[in-house]
Amino acid sequence: MADPQTTAVPRLESLGLSRDRPLVLVDVDEVLGMFMQGFGDFLAAHHGLEMRIDRYALFQNIYRPGAVEHLDLAEGKRLFDAFFGGHCHEMEPAPGAVAALERLAAHAEIVILSNAPAEAERLRSDWLTKQGIAHPLILNIGPKGPIAAGLVTQTPHPTAFVDDLVSNLDSVADHAPATATFQHVADLRLRPHAPRSDRHPRIDDWADLGEAIEASIRR
Ligand SMILES: [Mg+2]
Repeated sequence: MADPQTTAVPRLESLGLSRDRPLVLVDVDEVLGMFMQGFGDFLAAHHGLEMRIDRYALFQNIYRPGAVEHLDLAEGKRLFDAFFGGHCHEMEPAPGAVAALERLAAHAEIVILSNAPAEAERLRSDWLTKQGIAHPLILNIGPKGPIAAGLVTQTPHPTAFVDDLVSNLDSVADHAPATATFQHVADLRLRPHAPRSDRHPRIDDWADLGEAIEASIRR
């Protein structure tokens, strides 16, 4: 039975991409954009809530001011959906990300592969355009391995994938083992808490990451 959460894999041509160059797949939240900062600012400005980054979590890090217990998880999810539905364009780019992508684009085709609710598509796309990131956006649900594999099999050239979450990196490594995988965690506060894996180089500086990706697709 087909997995209802599987995202359809677009043809590279339909995205305006060439099969004649390497392909790089790049995540948005905590890779190209400062998601935790943006979501935290939204919680503070619109709901008077605090984001406390003292562990690697999302909804468990949202508190009412002065509270000891985090917010109810269902309420956290509701706020998360509200952020993506109306405010996810209010986010700063990760330092160095835009310049690094621009350099990579001289040698590679780039796809922005983001796990975000469908309602976020227009705001997310507008945000990318505003940052000067003029690459096709695919919104995915669930592990990224299946869609990444569907994209990279369309090109004979080397491919690379960047994400902050080890679960997504593992999924891509499992489904598309020839694709180079890199972990990047943009938020300084999140970095000490973010799990890493020996399977994927962790490079939190975008200038270094850009060079590593470039080396991997020139192999
Ligand atoms: Mg992410």
